[in-house]
Amino acid sequence: MEPERCCESGCIPCERDRDGAAPLDLSNYIGGAFVGHSGDAANEHDWLNVVEPATGYRFARAPLSGAGDVDAAVAAARAAQPAWGALSFGQRADWLDKIADALEAKYDEIAVLESRDTGKPISLARAVDAHRSVANFRFFAGQIRETHGGANERFEMDDATNIVVAKPVGVAALITPWNLPLYLLSWKVAPAIGMGNTVVCKPSELTPMTANLLMETIHEVGLPAGVVNLVHGDGAGAGGPLTAHPDVDLVSFTGGTATGAKVAASAAPQFKKLSLELGGKNASIIFDDCDLDATVAGVTRAAFLNQGQVCLCGSRILVQSSIHDEFLAKFVDTVEAMKIGNPSDESTQLGALISPQHLDKVSGYVALAKEEGGEVLTGGYPCLPKEFEHGNWLAPTVIAGLPHDSRCSTEEIFGPVVTVHKFETEDEAVAIANGTRYGLAGSVWVGDLDAGRRVAEKIETGMVWVNTWLHRDLRVPFGGVKDSGVGREGGRWSLGFFSEPMNICLKHD
Ligand code: NAD
Repeated sequence: MEPERCCESGCIPCERDRDGAAPLDLSNYIGGAFVGHSGDAANEHDWLNVVEPATGYRFARAPLSGAGDVDAAVAAARAAQPAWGALSFGQRADWLDKIADALEAKYDEIAVLESRDTGKPISLARAVDAHRSVANFRFFAGQIRETHGGANERFEMDDATNIVVAKPVGVAALITPWNLPLYLLSWKVAPAIGMGNTVVCKPSELTPMTANLLMETIHEVGLPAGVVNLVHGDGAGAGGPLTAHPDVDLVSFTGGTATGAKVAASAAPQFKKLSLELGGKNASIIFDDCDLDATVAGVTRAAFLNQGQVCLCGSRILVQSSIHDEFLAKFVDTVEAMKIGNPSDESTQLGALISPQHLDKVSGYVALAKEEGGEVLTGGYPCLPKEFEHGNWLAPTVIAGLPHDSRCSTEEIFGPVVTVHKFETEDEAVAIANGTRYGLAGSVWVGDLDAGRRVAEKIETGMVWVNTWLHRDLRVPFGGVKDSGVGREGGRWSLGFFSEPMNICLKHD
């Protein structure tokens, strides 16, 4: 099928203000106050336009901050750290609970803002983004309170007792992407401040709205000034100066692999603590003894949740040859029945892609797939009401017949595009799954759970689900291997990363 844009004018998505309405101007949040940035507020070029992916309308502007703004935020975080770090784990856990309570009261506001800012369906924004953002603060409050920050280990010797205490690292830089804006920011802020650090957040320039809402919430609950700071801006102007800043002790970065390499290069010479959560090209491996209907439903969700813009999405589907054709027929039928369109409609299952540039990248991979010998079984540009003609839309796309080592089958596309491949044996499935530079996640769909566990262990990733996908327990380690990242966050791994373990050896009399 040849993708074609059905927009009447045939133009590419563009930025406009709805009915000439003035955009909302956001501010940085530094030292407990919303402040203007160091750029020229009267100069349009010193702002970043925030655009609805579904319609192409601009609705807000975020400051295009620079090194001076980063310096001010880091200084505020540094000044606040000693007093904040001196609080008990229980006191800081109480603050996390207060933030969770205040965020929970804004549950619908989070969902509406996130849906508008990212183009994702409102039902998803509510069930996933709003839910997890509140849950992250609550979960880490409970864990830090219960475990005293994980610092309850003792090692006895004949003549001495070793105790391990978890100390704050200092000032943390938290950098996040656009696909799950508040979900991922809260996943970092909660354990970071819970362990006694102070933070400077740099959310994606494409989706700053719920980061702003978090700052408003933190301000309302009266968190001490300087504990959480936020600088809006792009990677070059704000992200780079933040990771390279000499007074930043730790960097937690979630984003693309190429950006992660730059972040690592800037943080390494200063020996900063570093966690990198990067890209993925995850396999969904389907064996012929699986429950086929449940597998089709699960694999469809894994492929297209959030328009395929989740680092964990199963974008390569490997099917045992004896059920390949039957699976493919059911899968394509299921995909074609998905409802794409208006993100604020409760029944919508697929929304818009994040930006025109990203749509071009994803569509470019569909074109490349054809050059590489693939057949597009379903996909293309969907026909939507005129209101959405300037949005970034692509129907869920299924490609078969590609070599499993082709570029489309091994590079991260990060959109609603999956490739389907046939395999004969378990060893072949594992070899195909491991044949990419990425190693973040994967799923195995199988009748025999022992076989599922055996296959899972052979896959070079940080996480594998068997007969499910994105079934999250916040206590487990989260992260990838190979080019998918360095380190783990989640549960006690987050507490460990956001602290320095110190051993104190007490010699007995
Ligand atoms: P990106 O790398 O372009 O940007 C991520 C963040 O880094 C943004 O805030 C950006 O402004 C900032 N940034 C850009 N250049 C920088 C620099 N030189 N120094 C410091 N910061 C800089 O990623 P994206 O397009 O926003 O997000 C999509 C990517 O994120 C995908 O590759 C996806 O797989 C990945 N991701 C990974 C996970 C995970 O947990 N492993 C989760 C979500 C998304």
